[in-house]
Amino acid sequence: MFQYDEIAVKNQLLELIRRAATDLPEDVVEAIQAAQENEDADSAARSVFGMILKNIDLAREESTPICQDTGTNIYLVHMPEGVSMRKLTTLIHEATAEAVDKSYLRPNAVDSITGKNSGNNIGEGQPYIHFEEWDNDYIEFKLMLKGGGCENVSTQYKLPDVGLGAGRDLDGVYKVIVDAVNAAQGLGCAPGILGIGIGGDRMSSHMNAKTQLFRKMTDTNPNADLAELESKLYNDLNTLGVGPMGFGGKTTVLGVKMGTMHRLPASFFVSISYMCWAYRRHSMLLKAGGEVTYD
Ligand code: SF4
Repeated sequence: MFQYDEIAVKNQLLELIRRAATDLPEDVVEAIQAAQENEDADSAARSVFGMILKNIDLAREESTPICQDTGTNIYLVHMPEGVSMRKLTTLIHEATAEAVDKSYLRPNAVDSITGKNSGNNIGEGQPYIHFEEWDNDYIEFKLMLKGGGCENVSTQYKLPDVGLGAGRDLDGVYKVIVDAVNAAQGLGCAPGILGIGIGGDRMSSHMNAKTQLFRKMTDTNPNADLAELESKLYNDLNTLGVGPMGFGGKTTVLGVKMGTMHRLPASFFVSISYMCWAYRRHSMLLKAGGEVTYD
C-alpha cells in the first residue's frame, strides 16, 4: 500500500504550482533563446524575444507569475494501484487555494451561468485532473498551465475538409494545421507550440492534443511518419512570417508535437492545442516514504 504524509504532499504540490507559474522549463527557455538568435539584428522579432526573456528571468528571480493569466491548471497523474483519487484531488485543491493566497495563481474559475468567480481557482472541472494507474511504485504529477488566449485559438477540424482540399491522410492533416496557424496570426501570443491529436473522437482527440504538450521540446516522435511531419510543419510554419506576438519574423512556432489514436471509420478529427510562448509545465515524482523530485 502506497502511503504518504498528506500535509507534506500538499506542500510539495504547492511547490509544484509555484514552479509551474513562475519558472519556465529550461527546454522552453533554450528554444526561445535559439529563436532570438535566429532573428535578424535590430528586428522587431528580436526585440520581442528580448522582452520575453527578461520577463522570464524576472518571474524566476522574484517568484512571480510569468504571465498575469495563470491559465487552466491541467494535471496528469499516474499512480500505483490502490492510491485514492479522491484524496489526491483534495490535496491538489488545497494546494491550489493556497497558491492563490500566495499570488502564484490568479483566481481563474468563473461560474459559467452566474459569472461569479469562485475566488480560489477551484470549481467544476477546475483544476482539470486526469488520473491513470500504472505499474511503477511512485506517483507522478504532471502540471501544465494553459493560458486562455492561446486556448481561444486552439481548434478542431473534421476531415475531409473540401474547402481546404484536405483529405483523410497526413497531407490533409498538414493542410488543416497550416490553416489553423494562419488563422491565429499573432493571437494566442505566438510563437506557438502545437499539440496535435489525430483521430479519436471529438473529446479524446482534444485530450490527445493537449497530452502532446507534456513532451519535451527536444524529443523525437517515435513514429517515423509523424517525426517527419512534425519537422516539415516546424520548418514550413516558420516561413509564414507571423513572428513573435505577430510582429513578423522567422519564428511563428517553436515546436510541433503530434500523436494519433484509432478512430471510427466515419470520423477523422484533427485537434490542435495551441500553446503560447508562456509554455508552463513541470512535474513531480513522489516516492513511497515521501521523497520528491521535480522536473
Ligand atoms: S496566451 Fe499565454 S502569454 Fe498570452 S496572455 Fe494568455 S497565458 Fe499569457
